Amino acid sequence: MKRFFHLFAFAMLIMTLNSCNKSAATADNPFFEPKWDTPYGAPPFERIRFEHYKPAFEQGMSLHNEEIAAIVDCKDEPTFENTILAYDNAGKMLSKVSGVFGMLESAVTDEQMQDLSSEMMPRLAAHSDAILMNEKLFARIKKVYDNRDASGLDELQQRLTKKIYDRFVRSGALLSAEDKAKLKQINEQLSSLSVKFGRNTLAETNAFQLVLDENQVKGLPQSVLDSAREQSKAADKGADKYLFTLHKPSMLPVLTYAQDRSVREQIYKAYLKRGDNGNENDNKAVIADMVSLRYEKAKLLGYDSYSHYVTANQMAGSPEAAYELLEGIFDAANQKAKEELDRMTTLFKRDHGADANFESWDWWYYAEKVRNRDYKLEEEQVRQFLSLDNVKGGIFFLANRLYGITFRPIKAPLYHEDCEAYEVIDADDSALGMLYFDFHPRPSKSGGAWCGTYVDQSYEDGKRVAPVVSIVCNFTPPTKDMPALLTIDETETLFHEFGHALHNLFADVKYSGLGGVEGDFVELPSQIMENWAFSTELLKQYAVHYSRGNVMPDDMIRNIQRCSKFNEGFNTTELSAAALSDLDIHSVKSAEKIDVASFEREALNTKRGLISQIEPRYHYTYFSHIFNGGYSSGYYFYLWAEVLDKDAYQAFVESGDIFNQQIAKRFRDEVLSRGGTRNGMDMYRSFRGADPDKNAMLVARGLIEEAVVEPLEKPQIAAKVDTREQARQRAERSRREREAARLEAESVEQAE
Ligand SMILES: [Zn+2]
Repeated sequence: MKRFFHLFAFAMLIMTLNSCNKSAATADNPFFEPKWDTPYGAPPFERIRFEHYKPAFEQGMSLHNEEIAAIVDCKDEPTFENTILAYDNAGKMLSKVSGVFGMLESAVTDEQMQDLSSEMMPRLAAHSDAILMNEKLFARIKKVYDNRDASGLDELQQRLTKKIYDRFVRSGALLSAEDKAKLKQINEQLSSLSVKFGRNTLAETNAFQLVLDENQVKGLPQSVLDSAREQSKAADKGADKYLFTLHKPSMLPVLTYAQDRSVREQIYKAYLKRGDNGNENDNKAVIADMVSLRYEKAKLLGYDSYSHYVTANQMAGSPEAAYELLEGIFDAANQKAKEELDRMTTLFKRDHGADANFESWDWWYYAEKVRNRDYKLEEEQVRQFLSLDNVKGGIFFLANRLYGITFRPIKAPLYHEDCEAYEVIDADDSALGMLYFDFHPRPSKSGGAWCGTYVDQSYEDGKRVAPVVSIVCNFTPPTKDMPALLTIDETETLFHEFGHALHNLFADVKYSGLGGVEGDFVELPSQIMENWAFSTELLKQYAVHYSRGNVMPDDMIRNIQRCSKFNEGFNTTELSAAALSDLDIHSVKSAEKIDVASFEREALNTKRGLISQIEPRYHYTYFSHIFNGGYSSGYYFYLWAEVLDKDAYQAFVESGDIFNQQIAKRFRDEVLSRGGTRNGMDMYRSFRGADPDKNAMLVARGLIEEAVVEPLEKPQIAAKVDTREQARQRAERSRREREAARLEAESVEQAE
C-alpha cells in the first residue's frame, strides 16, 4: 500500500512537471498551431526548436487516443463516416510531428535528435499496437466491413474499409483471446531474436581485422592504401601496416585489386562465415528459432507459410508468383554468369596454371581485369558532362516533355542554407506541390539518398491539399573552381529519387489510408525514371561539358550504355539467389527447427544449380534484410519492381518516342496519381494493357539478346499514336523502333 502511494505521488509529480513543461513548450510550439501560414503549408523550420518535438509527440499521441476513444464511445450504429472515416482522419498532429522529425532526423541530425528518436520509437510502436489491439474499435470496424456491400459505399470507401479491416486482421484481431496471447508472445520473441541477430552480425563483422604488410597489398590503388594505413594507425596495428575489415567499402577493394590470391581468400572466407563460427555470436540457432516462430505466426493467422502471409497483401499476391519471376531471372543470369566465368578463366589459368580452380574470391579480381581490357570507361571524363545543374535541368526537361509540368524557384522556409525550393506547376497552371532539394553531404546528414514528404497530399473540405516533397542526397560537392560534377551512379540516383518525388507530387487520393502502395510496387515510379537517364535522346539534351559547352560525344554515350551490362550475369545471379533463399526459408511448412547450413546448400546449389564460383549476395547467417530488417519474404521486391519498370518503359520505346505524351499521361493517370486506391497489378494492367513481361528486364541487364516485342498484343498502346508526321520521322531509327513505328502507322490508318 505504501509502495503504491509512493508511486502514485511520483506519478502526480511527473504529471505536474509535465504540464509545467507543456505550458512553457506549447506557448510558441509550431506543432501546436492548427495551420502553418507558409507556402504550401511547409514547416516553419526557422521557428522549430529541438525542445518542441517531445511535447508535440506526447500531445499528438494523446489527441490520437482521444479521437479513437470518441469513435469507440460513439452511441450510434457504426457507419463509414463515424468509424472508418473518423479512424482515417485521426492522428493528424502525430503524423505531422513524426513526419517533420523523421525527415530532419536524417537530414540535419545530432546526438539529441538521435537520443529522442530511440526514446520515442518504442513509445510510438506501443501506441500503435494499443490501437490495433483495441477490441471495441475493431468490433465497430468489423460491423462496417460486414455490411459494406449493403450500405451503398462507393468503390473507394469499400477499399478503405477493407484495407483498415485487413490491417487489424493481419495483426490478430479475429483470434480468440488465447491465440491473441500466443501471437503477442510470438511477436515479442521475434522482436528480441531480431535484435539479437543484428547484434551478433555487427559483432561478427567487427571481430575480424586483416592486417597486411607492404608486400601483401600489391595491386591496390593508392587512395585505398592511404585509408587502410590510417585505419592501422588508429587501431594501433603499426604505422607501416594496412588494416582491412569486413565492411564492404574496405573489403571490396581487396577483392577487386589484391594480386595476392591468398589475401583475397582470407578476407572473403571470413566475410562468408559471419554468424557461422560456432561462437557466442553464432546466428544459426537464432535463425532456426525465428523461422519456426514465423511459421507459427502465419499458421495462427490462417496462412500456409510465412511467405504466404507476407506476399498476400503484396502485388505478387503469393510466393508462387514471386518464385515464377525469380526462377526465370535466376536461370538466365546463371547462364550468363557461366559465360562471364569462361571469359575470366583464360586469364586466370594464365596466372595460376591449367590445374588451378577458379574460386568465388577470384571473381571481382578477374572481372576487373576484363573490365579494364574490354569495357574501359573513363568516368572522370564522363563526369565533366554531368554537372549537377545540367542533370537537374535534364530532369526538369524530361518532366516537362512527358507531363507538361514546370518547376519554379520559390521563397519558402529552409531547414538548411544548402536547400533549394521549387513550386511545381501543372500543365493547366494549377499548383501540384512543392519540391525541396538538399544535394550535398555534411556531417549532420545520414548517408545515401532518399525522398520523403513534409506534407502528404490529402483532401480537406473536398479540396486537394498539395504535398511538400523533399529529395535528399549526398552528391560530390562543388569546389572553388569546379561545379558539382556527378558520377554515373549519382546521376542515376537523382533520376530515381525524382521518380519518387513525382509519385508524391501527382498523388490525388481522397483518403489518407489509401495513400500507400504495396512493397513490391514502391520502386516502379522511381526506377522507371532511370531508363531515361542515359538514353541517347535525353543525354543529347542535358549532357553538356561544364566548361567547353559541347554535347556528350556519341562514342561516349555508346560506351556508357554498353558498360551498364558488364558483369550483370554475376550481379543478377547473386541478387536473385539471395531473393530465392529468402523465399525458400520462409516457405517451410513446419515449426520443426531446420538445420540452417544444410537447408541453404540443398536449396541453392543442389536444387537450383548455383555455380560454386558465385555466392548468394547474403548467406542466412548475416542476411540482415530478412532477419533484422523489413524484408523477410520481401527481398524479391527489388527485382520485381525492376521487371515492372523495364517493361513499363518499353511502352515508350515501342511507341517510337521515349517522350510520348499520351503514354506518359496514361502512366500518370493510371499509376502515379492513384496512390494505393487500386491493387498495384490492376493499375499496371490499366497502364500497359497487359501483364508485366520480364523480357525487357533481362535484355536491359544483358542477360538475353533481344526482347520479344509484340506491340500488336497491346492494342490500347498501339492505338494511342500521335501523328503521321511523327511516324515518318521515326523511320530512320533502329530496327525495333522502325518495326514499332510501322505497326503504329498501320493503326493510325485503321483509326482514321
Ligand atoms: Zn527508391
